[in-house]
Amino acid sequence: MKKIVVLSGKGGTGKTTLASFLSIFLENSIKADCDVDAPNLNLVFNANKIYEKDFYGAKIAKINYDECSNCKLCKDYCRFEAIKEEDNKIVIDALSCEGCKACVIKCPKNAISLNEVVTGKVKYYNDFDSKFVGAKLEVGAEGSGKLVSKVKEVANEEAKGEKYMIIDGSPGIGCSVIASVTDTDSSIIVLEPTMSSIDDFKRLLKLLENFDNNNFVIINKYDLNEEKTNEIKDYCKENNVEVLGKIPFDKEMVRILNTDFKSVLTKDFESKDAFINIINNLKNII
Ligand code: SF4
Ligand code: SF4
Repeated sequence: MKKIVVLSGKGGTGKTTLASFLSIFLENSIKADCDVDAPNLNLVFNANKIYEKDFYGAKIAKINYDECSNCKLCKDYCRFEAIKEEDNKIVIDALSCEGCKACVIKCPKNAISLNEVVTGKVKYYNDFDSKFVGAKLEVGAEGSGKLVSKVKEVANEEAKGEKYMIIDGSPGIGCSVIASVTDTDSSIIVLEPTMSSIDDFKRLLKLLENFDNNNFVIINKYDLNEEKTNEIKDYCKENNVEVLGKIPFDKEMVRILNTDFKSVLTKDFESKDAFINIINNLKNII
């Protein structure tokens, strides 16, 4: 199975739209929405959920008051100020606890243990001759990289003979992006011809130097600034990154995709040829 991750240096460049098109046009594919902080691939597919499972992505300390002598030693060792006193009793502030285990080690009564906590949900959907794994990180929870890895693990399990895995990666260059790219074959970076998008793209490309992936670029809304589009193409040439294609600004395409995604296969719209060229280019290369 070929694993293709779609990335962007920041949100709002058309990454999810492109990932949606790839998964619609590439037959026998499973989709993985790894933008776990703001998942939105299912806004396009509106698919039937088959199951949802809790994801335990963190551990926090818990005191066994039957054993605790209230010596307060643990409070001195917590560097995150997660151990407090309430009514002369030691308590853990779950929101501040980082699960570092210092209190567990230092407690003379072995009264503290670390317990796993739910930090998100992993969801599996099945739709339109294709499969889809998504997730949602709890508000304020950390560990998005771990949840991304879990989404890909479930997608691997559910793929069962699919030819492609299309991963809608997290935007930016953080740990969830690293987790999105890990163990994939090809990275497609979607960017727009703007100064900020180009700067973000360069930072992302720097990050991708740490992987063995084939890197490709798609320039979205290229016709909004052809000078910047040429700048991107020149930069890609200098850095041996292949430009898979460029897509014109096309409001109708977004409307069709969001109204009835299946109809992008049958309806005509201005950017359709550009998308089909990109898919064909990709098929020939990977
Ligand atoms: S170090 Fe252990 S025994 Fe002492 S207050 Fe903390 S939990 Fe209780
Ligand atoms: S596990 Fe670490 S952060 Fe959490 S309460 Fe204990 S010492 Fe503090």
